[in-house]
Amino acid sequence: MNKESNKIFDFLISDYIYLPYYKDYKINVKDGEYIYKNELLINNDKQNIYSSVSGKILGLTTLNNKKYIVIENDFKDKLKIRKGVKRYINKYTKDELTALLKKYNIISEEDVNSKVLIISGIAEYFEENVYSTLLVNYTRELLDTIDALIEVMNIRKCFLAISNSDQDCVNILLNNLGTYPKIDLKLFNYDFSIGNKYVLINKLTNYRHKNYGILYFNIKELMDIYTVLKKDISPSYVYLNLMGDLINFNRVIRVKKGTNIDDLLNEYKITNKDSVYINGLLNGIKLNNTNYIIDNDIRSIFISKDIFTQEQTCINCGLCYKNCPININPKYMHFNNDEKSKKYREKCIGCGICSYVCPAKINLRGVYKDDKK
Ligand code: SF4
Ligand code: SF4
Repeated sequence: MNKESNKIFDFLISDYIYLPYYKDYKINVKDGEYIYKNELLINNDKQNIYSSVSGKILGLTTLNNKKYIVIENDFKDKLKIRKGVKRYINKYTKDELTALLKKYNIISEEDVNSKVLIISGIAEYFEENVYSTLLVNYTRELLDTIDALIEVMNIRKCFLAISNSDQDCVNILLNNLGTYPKIDLKLFNYDFSIGNKYVLINKLTNYRHKNYGILYFNIKELMDIYTVLKKDISPSYVYLNLMGDLINFNRVIRVKKGTNIDDLLNEYKITNKDSVYINGLLNGIKLNNTNYIIDNDIRSIFISKDIFTQEQTCINCGLCYKNCPININPKYMHFNNDEKSKKYREKCIGCGICSYVCPAKINLRGVYKDDKK
C-alpha cells in the first residue's frame, strides 16, 4: 500500500468555527455563553444543528449571504455529558438505531423501512479520493457499520460499490470481506457518471429493489453513522480533498465542520485566491469569495492558477446533449431562463457529464447547481 497517498491530514487549528443559523429555527444559545461540543445550537422539528467544538459564542455574522453563529474555539472539545462508547454497534434495536440516526439528521422517517442498502465508495469527480482513503484507513469500522445497518434494519440486499482503479481499496476489501457475507461488493470501471447517486442506483437496482425502498449512503456519510452509533454524538469532522496546481499534491484533509476555507488557504500559504473551486473544476462552483464555510456537502477544494476561468464560446458540437443520461439539452438549460430551461433544471440530476464533455469548458452543470440554491 502506498502509505503517503492514503494518509489523512488534519487541519484542526481554526480559532473560529461558523455554524449555520436559520431564522425560523429555535435558538438554544446566547451571546457570550460557553458551549460544549455536541450541544444543540438551533433546531426545528426536522433538523438539529449541534456544535462541532467547545468554546464561547461570539454572536451572529453573515458570510456569502448566509448567516452563521460564530464560536471561539477553545480546542478542548469538551462534552457536557461524557458519553460511553458503545462496544458492539449491532446491539441496537431497530427503534433505537433509527431514533439515533434521525436525531443527527442522517435518515428521515421514509427511510426507516427500506430493504435495499447501497453504499457508494465511488468518487463524484476525478481525482477525488476521500471515500477510498476512508475505506483504506477505517476498513473494519466501516464494514462493521454496514453490517450493523443490515442486521438491525433488516436489509435484504446490500451493495458496496467501488471503483476498480482504487487498487489499495480493492485489495483491502477483498482481504476483509470474507467475514461480511451479506455485503455484495460491486466493482466498476471508473467513469465520471458512475459517482452520481442516481446513475449508480440505476445501475445496481431493478424494479423489485426499487419497490422495497432504497437507502443510499456514501462513505463519508457511513463514517458519520459509525460515529453516531459508537458514541451517540454529532459527527464534527468533514473529510475533503485539497488539490489543484497551487497545492503540491492532492491530499485528503480532516477539518472541523464550520471551518472557514480562507483559514485553510492561509495555512497552506495560498495567496492567489482568484480561482478556488469547490466540488470539481468543471462541474463545481467557483468561489467569488473564499470566506466560505465548510459543511458536509463539500467534497473537494480545487485551487488553480487562473487558467480555467475564461469561458470560451459554444462551438455547437452537440456533445453535451448527446451525453446527458436523462436526455435533456444542457446547453439550452445553461443559456436560457425560460419555462423550458426551468423544467430541464428540475429534471437535471447534476451528474456533470455535460460540463465534462464540453470542449469549450463551459460549466453547464454549475448553473443548475446555483439555481437550486
Ligand atoms: S444536464 Fe448535465 S448535469 Fe444535468 S443530467 Fe444532463 S448531463 Fe447531467
Ligand atoms: S458541449 Fe459545450 S461546446 Fe458543445 S454544444 Fe454543448 S455547450 Fe456547446
